[in-house]
Amino acid sequence: MRTIRIHDTAAGELRELTPRVPGEVGIYACGPTVYNRIHVGNARPFVTFALLKRFLQHEGYDVTLVSNLTDVNDKIYAAAVRTGVPSTTLAEEMGAHYRADTDRLGLGRPDAEPLATTSMPGIIALIADLVERDAAYEAEGDVYFRVRADARYGSLSRRDVDMMDQGEGDDPVGLALKQDALDFALWKATKPGEDVAWDSPWGRGRPGWHIECSAMAEEALGVGFEIHGGGNDLVFPHHENEAAQTRCARDHELAQLWMHTGMIELRGAKMSKSVGNITPLVEALDDIGRDALVLLFASSHYRQPLNWADDSIEQARAGVRRIREAGRLLVDGPSPEDLAGELEAFFAALADDFNTARALGHLWSWVREANRRTAAGERVGDADLRTMLAVLALDGVLDGPDDGGPDDAALALLRERDAARAAKDWARADDLRDALAADGWTVRDGASGAELVRTET
Ligand SMILES: [Zn+2]
Repeated sequence: MRTIRIHDTAAGELRELTPRVPGEVGIYACGPTVYNRIHVGNARPFVTFALLKRFLQHEGYDVTLVSNLTDVNDKIYAAAVRTGVPSTTLAEEMGAHYRADTDRLGLGRPDAEPLATTSMPGIIALIADLVERDAAYEAEGDVYFRVRADARYGSLSRRDVDMMDQGEGDDPVGLALKQDALDFALWKATKPGEDVAWDSPWGRGRPGWHIECSAMAEEALGVGFEIHGGGNDLVFPHHENEAAQTRCARDHELAQLWMHTGMIELRGAKMSKSVGNITPLVEALDDIGRDALVLLFASSHYRQPLNWADDSIEQARAGVRRIREAGRLLVDGPSPEDLAGELEAFFAALADDFNTARALGHLWSWVREANRRTAAGERVGDADLRTMLAVLALDGVLDGPDDGGPDDAALALLRERDAARAAKDWARADDLRDALAADGWTVRDGASGAELVRTET
């Protein structure tokens, strides 16, 4: 197996992936809080970890990808009050939208998608363990995590413990309940305006966001699992707090590696509702198409900001066309052995901190060389290109669904014509051209080889 290195946020450097059980990798990627339709910024981690799973499977690992839905949260209560529907109804509706929208990415579902609402016994048990260990305390129906109980607090986000603000927007009452302003809520007593609550040893209430993930991740993958992921806006406080909770309750790190995706930036794009973090995923899928969107995500290294701009979107569209057109000129079967270097470099780039941008560079080199050879009349097998595209979930570009392009029978005639021309059998080439014309295809000889276009009628 290839050595795989991933940038670990906690270490601040690349670390080798070393599974607890050889050959098995667990990934927990924080999913959305379901209070509105997800935007392209939320889709980036979804795509990144789905593609990482494909790569690890290609490398021979058995991968379990878990991605939760946060369906109990202040934001949901607030949005439900604004829209006048019960918070459970809103969360269910937005959860269904999330599944439908991400389904359209064509990347499959994660292996498990736990909900906070259906994980309540584990969440409450984890809080109880923290209280028993004196790493948490009850105060008037709330339970708070005692940050200073964790000697390693701050080790993930690598900041000084005294410089941290939990962002809980404490009112004087909430602040008075905390023994230290650094502490954060594990359980909140139910308040007027909150329409759903659960029974607990501390009275009726609901969990804090951070403890939900610690409990759901442990339930699905155990502690010390291989990769914990999410957007880099989650490093602090969410992931710092997840790590602290599990460390204090289990005397064990929650995850071996913490992997964070960069944000989406809006450079050069027209400033309208249709850009960036306010672009709903569903709108991006309608406008750009699934293939170009996945290629756009893969075109940037996951840790770098992704430039959401008209020109980068257009480049992704052109990239999909380039793959489709190259594919039409290839034949089924093994690729030339002297192109295997690009294939190897493609996978080496993915093993080096999952650098999809650099990997794509090698894929384009492969395509350029294949185009050069097919234009020269050589028959080039598509196997290597198919292997690379499959890891990026783009192999479907080679097979359709067709944009009205020629079917296999027409392409077979075109390849025969290529061969006839290469053999300077002009009469045979003309007959084949006429056969294609009878089926409605015009042969166009271009710089990158012959292609078929629909005859205009
Ligand atoms: Zn989380």
